[in-house]
Amino acid sequence: MGSGGFGQRSAALGTAEEVKIGDRGKFSAWVCCPLCSCEDSAPAFTRADNGTVVQCKKCALLYLNPRSPEFSIASLYDRSYFDEGGHGSGYRDYIRQQAIEMKRGDHPAQLALQLLEQRISPRGRTLLDVGCGGGDLLNLARRHGFGVSGVDVSAYVAAQARERFNLDVFAGGLEDAKFDANSFDVVTALEVLEHLTRPVQWLREVYRILKPCGLLLLTTPNAHCAAKYGEKWLGFTASFEHLTFFDLRTVTLAAEMAGLRTTAVWTRGNGLSSASSVVGRVVGNAKRILKRALLSFPSLFALLQARRRPIGVTPFERDPFGHDLWVLLEKVDAGKF
Ligand SMILES: [Zn+2]
Repeated sequence: MGSGGFGQRSAALGTAEEVKIGDRGKFSAWVCCPLCSCEDSAPAFTRADNGTVVQCKKCALLYLNPRSPEFSIASLYDRSYFDEGGHGSGYRDYIRQQAIEMKRGDHPAQLALQLLEQRISPRGRTLLDVGCGGGDLLNLARRHGFGVSGVDVSAYVAAQARERFNLDVFAGGLEDAKFDANSFDVVTALEVLEHLTRPVQWLREVYRILKPCGLLLLTTPNAHCAAKYGEKWLGFTASFEHLTFFDLRTVTLAAEMAGLRTTAVWTRGNGLSSASSVVGRVVGNAKRILKRALLSFPSLFALLQARRRPIGVTPFERDPFGHDLWVLLEKVDAGKF
């Protein structure tokens, strides 16, 4: 993608009519608000990678602007991202990490199933996982009784999901999969929304493929943390591929624009970047030293691990500053808002 005047367009961003390319550089593609299309925004935060997070003057959404003109979700999630720690925030060994979290009992897939089963019985129901990665959530959901399908923009992990668990996984964007309308009882999308160039259009597609009263369970970093932690929020010190930063109000607004009603909200995790404070670094180092010492006594380590309570979610009202938002949405008939 070249540089040039502001009239130049970027097809790679998928928002051709909304993107203006400025001077050559990492952050040179100017975009309007991904939620309300307003062009008026004010700088709000600077990320650790020097990206500017602006706030829309109309709907108050926080989003990266300008962003990289070469941005393409599919090209980011290649083998290097999942197995070689590539692109600055990738994994060292993605599949192994999934297995460890599953064994430990704090894999987000386990939590997602737990939350869904408080609402519906999986027997005879269909579930689509968007951004399904290596297929761990789908495999678990199938064991619980759901009929499952997956979508992932990464051809690399989509192939792994098929091979590991013999799953039906489409490699590409949700819209490209062209599912029939009213196909699914449940759609899950963990850590997907913040990556999308067109989040409202994506939510509208979820609405279309959900059955009436179908559920969408999504997670996204909780931008409410920015109000408390400022630029020390984990959302600004890591995961630089994120494009938008939703809080409960803006995620609810986006969902309503697509016809989805928020029915339950929780938070999970600590939003403060531990590396950003001296105390955080000291505590982090102490934990690492203690863990290394404990590993010399395997039986004691196993006992402590077994006693560790799985990390659950907290109702939003009790902890509005947890790092991740977990939002359960429902497809409602038009006119019921
Ligand atoms: Zn806006």
